[in-house]
Amino acid sequence: MSTTERPRILVVGGGYVGLYAARRILKKMRYAEATVTVVDPRSYMTYQPFLPEAAAGSISPRHVVVPLRRVVRGAEVLTGRVTSIDQDRKVATVAPLVGEAYELPFDYLVIAMGAVSRTFPIPGLAEQGIGMKGVEEAIGLRNHVLEQLDKADSTTDEDVRRKALTFVFVGGGFAGAETIGEVEDMARDAAKYYTNVKREDMRFVLVDAADKILPEVGPELGRWGKEHLESRGIEIYLSTSMDSCVDGHVVLKNGLEVDSNTIVWTAGVKPNPALSRFGLPLGPRGHVDAQPTLQVTGTDYIWAAGDNAQVPDLASRKAGVENAWCPPNAQHALRQAKVLGDNVVSGMRGFPQKEYSHSNKGAVAGLGLHKGVAMIVMGKMKIKLKGRLAWYMHRGYHGLAVPTWNRKIRVVADWTLAMFLKREVVSLGAMETPREEFYEAAKPAPAPAVKTEDKAEQKAKAS
Ligand SMILES: Cc1cc2nc3c(=O)[nH]c(=O)nc-3n(C[C@H](O)[C@H](O)[C@H](O)COP(=O)(O)OP(=O)(O)OC[C@H]3O[C@@H](n4cnc5c(N)ncnc54)[C@H](O)[C@@H]3O)c2cc1C
Repeated sequence: MSTTERPRILVVGGGYVGLYAARRILKKMRYAEATVTVVDPRSYMTYQPFLPEAAAGSISPRHVVVPLRRVVRGAEVLTGRVTSIDQDRKVATVAPLVGEAYELPFDYLVIAMGAVSRTFPIPGLAEQGIGMKGVEEAIGLRNHVLEQLDKADSTTDEDVRRKALTFVFVGGGFAGAETIGEVEDMARDAAKYYTNVKREDMRFVLVDAADKILPEVGPELGRWGKEHLESRGIEIYLSTSMDSCVDGHVVLKNGLEVDSNTIVWTAGVKPNPALSRFGLPLGPRGHVDAQPTLQVTGTDYIWAAGDNAQVPDLASRKAGVENAWCPPNAQHALRQAKVLGDNVVSGMRGFPQKEYSHSNKGAVAGLGLHKGVAMIVMGKMKIKLKGRLAWYMHRGYHGLAVPTWNRKIRVVADWTLAMFLKREVVSLGAMETPREEFYEAAKPAPAPAVKTEDKAEQKAKAS
């Protein structure tokens, strides 16, 4: 961490908002006008809309993350966690990856810590569940699912086999529907290479407490998405929830019970709980309360945006929707970050602030290779697409939206190669414990067992 005479703009979080806001500030400010410091526990930004495809092996996991130090050149990037903010002294406490926590003074602050999986105290969930918020989870899920096929293919125990081949997904929004669609596609593909596993032997279950899936694309396309997934043999249970999953024994409120080694939790997000320690004004659901200028309410030197902020949705309010708030999605995060970056620079120079207003442009979702839904909003017109055309829209949109040309090219190269080469279906589960084999080889050999006659000899000598 550098000490600096210049004012410091501290950006807490290097995700969507943090990355784009830092880049915007660096672009708009004069040479040496301020020091921009980005703090994040990860050294990379994750393009979350690509996580389902990373979990299915359609995109290399490394290509869905963007190294912060390379893309926010000119900023100081610290790998660590901001654990508290002292507004009176204008210092943040940073817990680095290793070593003691330290204080970091700032003049201007950007809160961009995103959201975490929203969970409930369901027995067994913490031990058995896996989320879909980070690239580590996407890699873990892919290895785990393929490992289940390996297990099922090689066991003679019918119960073990059935449990391995049952996959439960809780939450049918964007993340859940896309992930089950992609993973089912991968498992179907992989099954071709197993002698004792067929797609019909696998059971995919999607559960949602609401009465529909994919609410982001509207009721008609949501219904189509549900019918489409069902036509692929995925069981969908709506208006119900998971009561427990102790040791993989899943019990749903509607009475269904299944045993499964795979419980994927995609039932929504909540604002980063660390915000509660920052002393900032919070809304009823724990978001930082922000003004349309993205300034945190009651301050003129702190800004917040993205999944951790409640920002009034001026476009919807103008259209007559009372108390509308911007939904937590990448579409808003990206645009808010740019306005936020401009406002930080204006704030530093004492210029007026701009208000953030953006009307929904629609949504696209991929449900596996060549399958998807898309709703494009053009003024008052809504264009609804499904199937292959929607899937092309999905790929086209996200292929352009992933940050940096480096990543755009790599992702398109992954997709192009996949058209000619078969999908990789190898499970690298051992990647999670890479030292295990070496440890076994290197650990001290156990003392040789002493023979019975030697023991008698030793006893005789001793007496
Ligand atoms: C599987 C999935 C699919 C999605 N698909 C779509 C889609 O198709 N379309 C769409 O519009 N949106 C989609 N989204 C939502 C979109 O990705 C988010 O809305 C967007 O990433 C929010 O940006 P953010 O900057 O607020 O948060 P994030 O991008 O999550 O960034 C938050 C950052 O804060 C860091 N952080 C956390 N705690 C601390 C701390 N204490 N100190 C410092 N840093 C911290 C985190 O490490 C992270 O890097 C999807 C999300 C998921 C999970």
